[in-house]
Amino acid sequence: MSKHDASYIEKFQEEEVKMKVLVAGAGGFIGGHLVNRLLYAGHEVRAIDKKPLTKWYQLHNNAENACVDLSDKMNCHYVCSGINQVYQLAADMGGMGFIEKFRIECMRSVLINVHMLEAAYAQGVDKYFFSSSACVYNTDLQVNPHSIAGLKEIDAYPAKAERGYGWEKLYSEMLCQEYWAERGLKTYIARFHNVYGPWGTWDGGREKAPAALCRKIIEAKDLDIDIEVWGDGTQRRSYMFIDDCINGIMILMGKPYMVATPVNIGSSESVSVLEMLDIITKIAAYAPEYKFDLSAPKGVGGRNSDNTFIKEKLNWEPTTKLADGLKITYDWIEQQYMKRKRGDKIVT
Ligand code: NAD
Repeated sequence: MSKHDASYIEKFQEEEVKMKVLVAGAGGFIGGHLVNRLLYAGHEVRAIDKKPLTKWYQLHNNAENACVDLSDKMNCHYVCSGINQVYQLAADMGGMGFIEKFRIECMRSVLINVHMLEAAYAQGVDKYFFSSSACVYNTDLQVNPHSIAGLKEIDAYPAKAERGYGWEKLYSEMLCQEYWAERGLKTYIARFHNVYGPWGTWDGGREKAPAALCRKIIEAKDLDIDIEVWGDGTQRRSYMFIDDCINGIMILMGKPYMVATPVNIGSSESVSVLEMLDIITKIAAYAPEYKFDLSAPKGVGGRNSDNTFIKEKLNWEPTTKLADGLKITYDWIEQQYMKRKRGDKIVT
């Protein structure tokens, strides 16, 4: 694994006391990688997700794994008992195709956040991490696909978040801030900008653009067909490789002065969909014809992460080049695609 070598990890784990930690949403993409990192650092990990264990992207046998629905209040109290730190990543979410179509599902994740915060507080948890999103930012600032200016943390207000998913995240951020202000629960809030990498969703409707485009090109190469591109291909985003995301979480959680302060955890290398396709077709050594579906969900015109604040406060920002992360992701999805073709068990 690229950055999972011992010296790299230890840099962020210096003098870290071994703890009992809870990862909520551990059967998902980021949660699975986070469990791996926390176990590697020597912590005792309780890994929780509502999906049956057979559907988890990664199942770590040395964690305490359980299938529990965290939208239920009593379940949250139960899983938070005896825990020092909570990493709350559970949410009903997906790429644009999911969050534009299923706004109610996205907003109902507020139940998880309300109950988990109260349970963490009541059970005496010391630190609480919340995975927010760049979808909290004011959408009026993200209309122009040609703008490469990034979003600063202050750009979430005046509030005009992405309908559904973005508003739920913004509300839950505020809840985290109030649990600190009124009750002293140390909350840490990261606004992730599109995260991609292996062991995540690559098919089925919840996948995000990098995985979807890798899969479409792999399919086109295999079957000699055109690929469908959502929108006109000018939509601009930045994409963060999973190793950077996990490093960002670990660094943020080690900075007591960042309590209750939302920060961007995202790459500032922005590309249009067409530019990302260029990178993937080079990796694949195959260039199919594109068909543009202008009626498909495409989200805001342009979004990037301004990393001025995290560079100043965390002395860090994501460093993996998109081309390098996409190569790792493409190879993994190609393996999954071939396994599925042979009828073997796969992760989607
Ligand atoms: P994911 O969908 O792979 O993982 C989320 C997990 O939460 C899923 O396994 C799901 O089963 C679980 N879950 C949903 N409802 C639950 C419930 N009631 N009880 C228990 N578990 C439940 O998503 P991910 O990409 O790993 O994202 C993790 C977190 O990061 C989410 O909160 C997401 O909103 C946030 N985020 C992700 C990205 C990204 O690009 N992946 C970007 C911004 C924010």
